[in-house]
Amino acid sequence: MKTMTCKELGGKCEQKLSADSWDEMVSVMTKHVMDKHPDVAQKMEEMHKQDPRKWSEETRPKWDAAPEL
Ligand SMILES: [Zn+2]
Repeated sequence: MKTMTCKELGGKCEQKLSADSWDEMVSVMTKHVMDKHPDVAQKMEEMHKQDPRKWSEETRPKWDAAPEL
């Protein structure tokens, strides 16, 4: 399992989010921003429409670099 903060994932708070896989982290983060940061969720959705891979390309290396707990 790995833990990253909302901020590291492109959000705006220090809440720690944990997941066992990248795919799980994407869904955990998506749920978190929809609950807590509707404005970030909207920005991510717009970014996704323009370039569906942009967020993953920017964020996946941070996931890969995060230590396994
Ligand atoms: Zn957050």
